[in-house]
Amino acid sequence: MIFGLCDVNNFYVSCERSFDPRLNGRPVIVLSNNDGCAVARSNEVKALGVKMGAPLHQIQHLVKQHNFAVFSSNYSLYADMSHRFEAMIEKYTPNIEKYSCDEMFFQLDGQEHRGNLGAYMRQMVQDIKRGLGLPVCVGLAPTKTLCKIANHYAKSLSVAGGVLTLFSEYNLKNALEILPVNEIWGIGRKHTEHLAKLGITTALQLRDAERKWIRKRFSVVVERTLMELRGVSCLELNEVAEKKKQIVCTRSFGEKTESQTVLREAIGYHVSRACVDLRSQQSVAKSITVGIRTNPFSKQDRQCVRSVTIELPYPTDNTCDFQAAATQALNRIYQTGYKYKKAGIMLNGLSDKGVVQYDLFHRHQPKDDAIMQVMDQINARYGKDVLRCGSQGFEATWVMNSNRKSPRYTTDWNDIIGAS
Ligand SMILES: [Mg+2]
Repeated sequence: MIFGLCDVNNFYVSCERSFDPRLNGRPVIVLSNNDGCAVARSNEVKALGVKMGAPLHQIQHLVKQHNFAVFSSNYSLYADMSHRFEAMIEKYTPNIEKYSCDEMFFQLDGQEHRGNLGAYMRQMVQDIKRGLGLPVCVGLAPTKTLCKIANHYAKSLSVAGGVLTLFSEYNLKNALEILPVNEIWGIGRKHTEHLAKLGITTALQLRDAERKWIRKRFSVVVERTLMELRGVSCLELNEVAEKKKQIVCTRSFGEKTESQTVLREAIGYHVSRACVDLRSQQSVAKSITVGIRTNPFSKQDRQCVRSVTIELPYPTDNTCDFQAAATQALNRIYQTGYKYKKAGIMLNGLSDKGVVQYDLFHRHQPKDDAIMQVMDQINARYGKDVLRCGSQGFEATWVMNSNRKSPRYTTDWNDIIGAS
């Protein structure tokens, strides 16, 4: 087996740099929702000791002193760049698993006729750099777990050409000997502590431990990891993304609010998003949970956390049905006199649309399906929420601060780079 993992270095930061080369060499951070914390850091920022998730107000002095470029998250840009990244890899191999927005697993079996696979991958790295402006690293190995490790070294050692392969015992031994077990994919804090008590602190020690002995003391997960470290592939490529069993949409507001209208509009927005997700995976949901809360960190505010679940008469994927249920839910939980900071919804009891059993009294209206289909098509073509339910409102006064967002270079005609 030949697996590969291609990963974009500092993905959000690299997307920003791709459209503004002046950012190269300058410290760059991208902030989380509501411009709170640093969720992506350039290497210059990492070198200054700024940790992942550091709150902006705690690093203000560094931001000033080192002239950081600071961005709000620009999800339209990152999502589009992620699609393009995936498409570039698809030109090199058809067997891909999109593991996250900036990480793709793939398999190269059957591609041996291309000769030196390391060189073939270096060509891919160059191609992605030239085509998208994104710096990536590739790890090649006989298992997915080893790919993660190969990729880690490709990045941390700044390997020439961006590709590192782990096939020979010599390379494997060198790589695993100095790798702490907690750096292995799938080995969390608990396993790390437990393994340390048994004298296992490096990946090499885990690989060479007796399999039966490990199985007796740990779950099958750790045993599987041990086998993967030995080069025996236990984890396949999941080419089809698994369907979600629950869909959750929740966000904090930019400002606290007491208004039921604002809450209803925020919830209406979340319901629309969730139903689009629901339909895109061809599922229906049986119930919806709606929740609202004040800010638990705000000492001077009276606290209120409430939620309620409403069961629909029949499983459905119809936005209007869920909007009506959500409004009903909000009426039940809303209380005046509180400053609300967050609202969210969850669709539960998901099942495949094609296999739902209805009873004698259910009359399915094909017309409703057609309306939803048309709405999704129009919104996909002309922009999110061009068509929407009235309960969602038009002002979106609740949205979070994102004052430092870069233009939507690739998804909006108005934001396309021009000569200036
Ligand atoms: Mg990455």
